[in-house]
Amino acid sequence: MASPVAHTFAGLWTFLLFAERTKIRLRDEWRRYAGHLCLLVFLANLADLDFISELLFHKNYHRGFSHSLLTAILAALALTWIWKIAGTFWSSILIYFVAYGSHLVIDFFTGMHLGWNHSSFGIPLFWPFSTRDFGSDLVLVYGVTHGSMSALFSLANLHAVCYDLFFFGIITGGLVLWRARYVLNN
Ligand SMILES: [Zn+2]
Repeated sequence: MASPVAHTFAGLWTFLLFAERTKIRLRDEWRRYAGHLCLLVFLANLADLDFISELLFHKNYHRGFSHSLLTAILAALALTWIWKIAGTFWSSILIYFVAYGSHLVIDFFTGMHLGWNHSSFGIPLFWPFSTRDFGSDLVLVYGVTHGSMSALFSLANLHAVCYDLFFFGIITGGLVLWRARYVLNN
């Protein structure tokens, strides 16, 4: 799995998409929408909560059904039924699906070594129709190790987190600048 830092950035990107679609002026209204941001960040990380069971019960449930397209669709539907975050049914489904789906996209490109090396872990995208793991040949994100507390707080994971802060931070900086320019010009 990729680190929570990577998925948290993706949740932030989904929030920027939400702000764009609902025409929110973030500079003036960001306090009002802090809860929306927290929910989307949580949703972008949700698929990895299965690793808790691995820590507690030492059984490998990780990257199972929670990392599938069907679960992303069901989660988007269920959340839209509870709260239409973007006002309308379809806009809300889209925002929730993008938040959850961002997790699948990042994990699709996650592996042990960066580059074109077929080292991605893969995820069961088409569960339950296929249990095959799908991953990109091109690895863009370092995977973090887990399964025990010592693995979780290892130097390799610290390295992965630093890389994510740099890689996703640069993309986020670009997105924020682009949006600020757009707001100023309109
Ligand atoms: Zn994951």
